[in-house]
Amino acid sequence: MEKTIAVIGGGLAGCECALKLAQAGLRVVLYEQKPQFRSEAHVSDGLAELVCSNSLRSAELTSGVGLLKQEMRELGSFFMEAADHCRIPADKALAVDREAFSSYLTEKVAAEERIERVCQRIDSLEDERLSDAHCDYVALCAGPLASEALSSSLAQILGKSHCYFYDAIAPIVWTESLDQSIVFRASRYACEAEDFDPAKPSGDYLNCPMQKEEYLRFYQALCQAETMPARAFEQLKHFEGCMPIEALAQRGERTLAFGPLKPVGFVDPRTGRRPYAVLQLRAENADFATCNLVGCQTRMLQAEQQRVFRLIPGMANAEFARFGSMHRNTYVNAPCVLNADLSLKNQARIFLAGQITGVEGYVESAACGLWLACVLIARCRGQTLTEPPRESALGALLGHLQTECKTFQPSNVHFGLMPAPEEKMRKKDRKQAYAERARKAFAHWLRDNFSK
Ligand SMILES: Cc1cc2nc3c(=O)[nH]c(=O)nc-3n(C[C@H](O)[C@H](O)[C@H](O)COP(=O)(O)OP(=O)(O)OC[C@H]3O[C@@H](n4cnc5c(N)ncnc54)[C@H](O)[C@@H]3O)c2cc1C
Repeated sequence: MEKTIAVIGGGLAGCECALKLAQAGLRVVLYEQKPQFRSEAHVSDGLAELVCSNSLRSAELTSGVGLLKQEMRELGSFFMEAADHCRIPADKALAVDREAFSSYLTEKVAAEERIERVCQRIDSLEDERLSDAHCDYVALCAGPLASEALSSSLAQILGKSHCYFYDAIAPIVWTESLDQSIVFRASRYACEAEDFDPAKPSGDYLNCPMQKEEYLRFYQALCQAETMPARAFEQLKHFEGCMPIEALAQRGERTLAFGPLKPVGFVDPRTGRRPYAVLQLRAENADFATCNLVGCQTRMLQAEQQRVFRLIPGMANAEFARFGSMHRNTYVNAPCVLNADLSLKNQARIFLAGQITGVEGYVESAACGLWLACVLIARCRGQTLTEPPRESALGALLGHLQTECKTFQPSNVHFGLMPAPEEKMRKKDRKQAYAERARKAFAHWLRDNFSK
């Protein structure tokens, strides 16, 4: 019997998923709240609206997002078909004419006879239209600004502590770009242990020690740095636990030194004394290839983040794997609540895709919708599908959703999500090596899963 999938949300993930499912012969009912209701960021009535920038970021294969786009093309992505069709010149980036892009996908959906577009809002995952009397599976693709009632319904199913509605992201840097003659490894208060030996650094964190003048230089730059303008709906009160570092700095010269940069429990091995302030860096992955600037969630412009954080001793040449950001964002604690196939662990008929899963970015959201379509097609056909390898961009992105950590946060795709290559290499060869390995791994996976 013909299988039916209800897709909620005709954004980037929803359109990609719906079109792929329909192409494979499945029936789709696509529920989109527009034009009757719009989120605070959506301004048009078309599907697949790019709500902010019109750039899909780097087109180069030596970047995580460039690789992801290429892998999507090879999987037959409609999102990438539209992007390539609507491309406008933007040097090494892939930028698109946003209206043409949205029209292209809106028309594709309209022309697809297996997709029924229903211009209605879904307020509850228990809505009768989503029951198994009406559809076999539900794909929830309602995005980071999913309507309030629907977000609450999801939170009710998952438990409130597994749903987040605000995103405060600290930058991530490549560990090897830090100055190892300054940065030291230690956990707080380890220096107070009886067997403490400063000559044998150990502990879970890397630490950048600051003398008073260095701290003040950083503090002043932070106070003067240019930040992203907040949209009206983002003028939310900041939660005390995730204040932007620059907002915290405005409270006074010593606030950071008594807060996220407090030096208690540390001894700088170079001086044998407690520094004036310490920036802690926490490993993002088991091999410490990248690390997170603890407590440094920020709204600073990306160029400002580079300039200001590089003032911290040990960070002068820091390379950023991901920049910090803060915005309203509905997403789930994916490692706890989602299976690898993006189904809810406690409701096997409901699947998530797009930014609501905990991926971040236009391309990543669409890639997630594409993967969900592959999963559902295989399931409806009774076929098996293996997960893309972690060495590939798609596999690395999906792997992020399965990586348990203390505080799960959304992520763009970047090389830091991939396993580090076994052999040591020079910094300048690294991107090429990651890219070549990813291309090979993805080609094998494609052949093994799709060439029958
Ligand atoms: C303000 C803002 C700016 C951003 N800027 C960028 C950027 O510049 N670059 C970048 O790469 N990423 C950006 N992102 C992140 C993200 O990539 C985009 O939000 C992206 O559109 C997410 O894709 P999606 O498919 O998950 O959700 P969306 O594209 O938002 O699609 C969700 C769809 O679901 C619909 N919907 C919501 N609730 C319901 C409901 N209850 N019933 C029916 N339909 C519903 C919405 O109307 C929408 O059409 C931004 C995010 C935000 C919030």
